Amino acid sequence: MNTQKFVSRRAALKGIGAVGVAVAALGQSTGGAATAAPDPGPALSASGARKLISERVLQTPLIDTHEHLLEEKERLQGASPPWVPCDDWALLFSHYLDSDFLTAGMPRADMDRFLSPKVDPLAKWQLIAPYWPAVRNTGYAQAVRISMRELYAVEDLTEQSVAAVQSGYEQTRRPGFYQQILQDRAKIESCQINRVMGEPFKQSDMPALLMYDLGIVGMFAGPDFNQYAPPTGIEVKALADWHRVIDWWFDRYAKYAVAVKSQNAYSRDIDYARVPAEEAEPVFRKTLQKEPVTDAERKRLEDHLFWYAVDRATAHNLPVKLHTGYYAGQNSMPLARLRLNADSAAELCRLAPDAQFVFMHICYPYYEELLSVAKHWTNAHVDMCWSWIINPVAAKDYLKKHIVTAPANKLLPFGGDYLHVEPVLGHAALARRGIAQALSELVEEGWLKLADALDLVDLIMHDNARRIFRLAQKTDALRQGSGNGNGAEAG
Ligand SMILES: [Zn+2]
Repeated sequence: MNTQKFVSRRAALKGIGAVGVAVAALGQSTGGAATAAPDPGPALSASGARKLISERVLQTPLIDTHEHLLEEKERLQGASPPWVPCDDWALLFSHYLDSDFLTAGMPRADMDRFLSPKVDPLAKWQLIAPYWPAVRNTGYAQAVRISMRELYAVEDLTEQSVAAVQSGYEQTRRPGFYQQILQDRAKIESCQINRVMGEPFKQSDMPALLMYDLGIVGMFAGPDFNQYAPPTGIEVKALADWHRVIDWWFDRYAKYAVAVKSQNAYSRDIDYARVPAEEAEPVFRKTLQKEPVTDAERKRLEDHLFWYAVDRATAHNLPVKLHTGYYAGQNSMPLARLRLNADSAAELCRLAPDAQFVFMHICYPYYEELLSVAKHWTNAHVDMCWSWIINPVAAKDYLKKHIVTAPANKLLPFGGDYLHVEPVLGHAALARRGIAQALSELVEEGWLKLADALDLVDLIMHDNARRIFRLAQKTDALRQGSGNGNGAEAG
């Protein structure tokens, strides 16, 4: 950080209160006083406006619209690869920060040792030390560093502090830590979980805090006969049987699910054409009999089944969450394919005007393109989940641009997108910082009046999610479902 800027910011922030300083100290310098604005409004200094906005953003409950969190009881069972590779402080680095280490040049074998349950936690520092200076400032690392500071009271990860980090990890990872981290510390009202361990749906032990999406990717990609068919008791011999399997999942779980979710964009573009059943049927039979199919045939079947599932979701009032943009991991992302996502998203909106699409991750790095889709199509919504740690500055840029470009009721500002709960705290802090900065800068630059900026806080931080996902209704259904035992057990 530039020292001169730091000092002048400290001076400018004097007297704005601990909360405001906390947010501002987390953030970047923004250049101080407001620039010439078309309508300066009542005399209120930039730092005064920033204080009001920051305090409001810090105090306002946030709804987290995308996570992959394990259930707390699963986490408390200890190391269980691949989802819990080890049960020590290195776990916080396993998702997604490991990728930054690997692209910084850390050998895979060293990363495997770092995440191994068999290596002494205190010896693990030496494995990442050579690469820590290169990755410590990325969004992935900043989220983890904030969590280590907030949860373990460790200011910085060093050879000397590793023991304190490990001890903090052990003290924190105890029954009740989900509620403590998510609700008490991060002020997150509820999280929406996309289960990655196989089951398309699950009911949480904490139904008011963790609410599940219904996973649809295996309904059309593959399709995944083993995962979806057995719980239904339906014998699948033809496409019509598979339709009934899909119907079964919706009939049974739509009332408890907050949305449907597909991450199929990791394998192909989201250019799903409406293919009639007659054209999909022959490919379905071949697939069922494990006969080879061409790429074009596979696409035809996937496209047909995608729309079958999406139309069921729409009939059940479930929004459709689709991965767009950046790929997790390293050394595998075909950028040319990602460039197509926003264009294809617009076509989906055209093909299904009654469906409510939620395009995730701001289609990073093609977020201007996705913003134009949200502005143009009534049924397009943008979820900023994951974006604050992929590129925090771009996420702030997206938020500023969305507010002055597309309707604000189509914006979902946060999802931690983590398997493990600890870094959600750091990610939420980055998001709150970004939201406060975006609103403050729009005021300072003269694009918004302070009152307009403050009015947006509740809307974007929780009102949109409550409305889009009908959370009050879902909460009631989940509470009743868990009470009488005939609710949403995983199939
Ligand atoms: Zn995700």
